[in-house]
Amino acid sequence: MRCVPDCYLCCVETDMILTKEDVKNLLALGYELEEFSEYRDGYLRLKNKNGMCFFLNERGACRVYENRPIGCRAYPVIYDVEEGKCKIDEECPAGDTVGPEEFLEKCKLIIRALPQLIRSENSGSSVNVKHET
Ligand code: SF4
Repeated sequence: MRCVPDCYLCCVETDMILTKEDVKNLLALGYELEEFSEYRDGYLRLKNKNGMCFFLNERGACRVYENRPIGCRAYPVIYDVEEGKCKIDEECPAGDTVGPEEFLEKCKLIIRALPQLIRSENSGSSVNVKHET
């Protein structure tokens, strides 16, 4: 895909769900679980600070890009449980630059990560691995 220059729309008001592997990687960088994550809508997700992902810096870049969560790597491919399939997030301005091979690879990445999601005790049964902006 070809991101729109200087676009970080996908890191604004992020709703990204974290996997066990994501948490392990981010903890290994020295971040504290409480500073970058919180339970919302039944799952452990990235925390926002002033309306932006905790990891977005003042220049609009990801501070953990090399170790960013699986869902961030897969974006703008998302998995919609209600529809039971991967799709491109309509809100991404570069969504139409994702080719079929990339789409398939990213979809596989998400599906492999689904069993690794971290649920809170009172969560429901549906999962929407959607990177909402
Ligand atoms: S971890 Fe990085 S890529 Fe993912 S939402 Fe946060 S700033 Fe964006």
